[in-house]
Amino acid sequence: MKVKIPKNIRVGSLTGRVEFKENLKVDDGWRGDYNQRTGILSIDPQCGEGINATFLHEVIHLIDLNYECDLNEVNISRIANGVYEFLKYNLGIEFDWSEIETATHR
Ligand SMILES: [Zn+2]
Repeated sequence: MKVKIPKNIRVGSLTGRVEFKENLKVDDGWRGDYNQRTGILSIDPQCGEGINATFLHEVIHLIDLNYECDLNEVNISRIANGVYEFLKYNLGIEFDWSEIETATHR
């Protein structure tokens, strides 16, 4: 089952606008980023299937921030990978990225 990644997400009081940002990995060294000030959740589209776990990683960051979990980066990645595997291999969920656009304002 394909599930569309929405352009806008919300976790508690935090909102995120999901965008592709070309060359994020090359320029900044990571495949995804959530900017709490702007609410922009950026994903580098050039990381292949890795965009799925990267997206969940950023969502876990929102959960971590909103619920003050105080998780470190490694544990955020571990939880994101586990959630991704559960969604994919147990529920048969794949992400559909067709609504997400490339950022043009930066
Ligand atoms: Zn992170």
